[in-house]
Amino acid sequence: MKAKIALLPGDYIGPEVVKEAVKVLDAVAKKYSHEFSYEEAPVGCTAIESHEDPMPEITLEVCKRADAVLLGAVGGPVSGSKWTELPGHMRPEAGLLRLRAELGLYANLRPAILFSELRDACPLAENVVGDGLDMIVIRELTGGMYFGPRGRKDTENGEAAWDTLIYDEVEIERIARVGFKTAMMRNKKLTNVDKANVLESSRLWRSVVDRVANDYPEVELEHMYVDNTAMQLALNPRQFDVLVTGNMFGDILSDIAGAVTGSIGMLPSASLAKGTFGLYEPVHGSAPDIAGKGIANPLATILSAAMMLKFSFGLEEEADDIEKAVQRALTDGLRTGDIVAEGETSIGTVEMGDAIVKYILS
Ligand code: NAD
Repeated sequence: MKAKIALLPGDYIGPEVVKEAVKVLDAVAKKYSHEFSYEEAPVGCTAIESHEDPMPEITLEVCKRADAVLLGAVGGPVSGSKWTELPGHMRPEAGLLRLRAELGLYANLRPAILFSELRDACPLAENVVGDGLDMIVIRELTGGMYFGPRGRKDTENGEAAWDTLIYDEVEIERIARVGFKTAMMRNKKLTNVDKANVLESSRLWRSVVDRVANDYPEVELEHMYVDNTAMQLALNPRQFDVLVTGNMFGDILSDIAGAVTGSIGMLPSASLAKGTFGLYEPVHGSAPDIAGKGIANPLATILSAAMMLKFSFGLEEEADDIEKAVQRALTDGLRTGDIVAEGETSIGTVEMGDAIVKYILS
């Protein structure tokens, strides 16, 4: 098949890890006789430097004419840099929000997998995680609190500010369907996360999820409040398979789910629009502390590329190839600095990319 991929390497380690993922995509293309073409565009700090805009029009155009987008990471050092002084709308993160909205990326999928080889990286006790974890958090990405009306006003107590959590039935139904469909592809178990004991928006959310459930009678659906879910992710994460939730709850829970796997350099993500279009990116940020040293772990980005093959291009076998190659690398003891255990030696970003290519082609 032929596919056009927009590459947004972004800032700091972004370009380093995207380069390795492209190498891996090229290996897959070679093995299966596909034709992937790439068009690169600036985003984040890099784009502020070149276009005075974290998400320039040209970048949006490049994304819109592609079949899928592969993003590295955006942002500068979290404190003491010129990027932290910028007004809200000029911050690199604002560019990402705009990109999600413009591309209609309403469903964010974040698998949280603890590979048994990386068991030591998991902060939870052995009896809690057993032989590993494998769950996926599905987060609504273009609605709710992060996109509702907001404002500030003067009051007798000084300034007040508000953000509005609003969801309509169409938004809830389409993300619920992603949840049920994903559950059907896995173990047919779905946990809906809300705060229906307090929030009106959650009561509507839950009723729509219940209605959609009628179309998926094979899926076992449970409802759980968000506070309890946060606790359960730490106490008993193995009870979960697929979780579906709103934007803000998902923002927090997907980080917890990722954190319990212990290795941020291993976590991929997909953000899907209607149809097959999607944006794929590692969960981690731009890691300015290690940029330019050649030690960043490229596996989260490489696994994001695998998600691209699966969800946007329908290339399941090719995606499996990449996942198996990552598994083999871990089994063979290959580790970048972030996942290396005491006494083990680590390899660099490029060596890890090369190893994955070798496994795919061998
Ligand atoms: P971060 O994820 O960049 O880094 C946190 C820690 O994890 C650092 O010690 C870093 O060295 C390490 N790390 C991250 N990715 C790694 C990798 N692939 N290999 C090895 N080690 C890795 O988070 P942060 O330091 O809080 O944020 C840095 C910048 O990234 C900020 O500007 C933040 O806003 C931005 N950020 C961007 C995204 C995104 O682009 N989607 C996501 C999160 C943070």
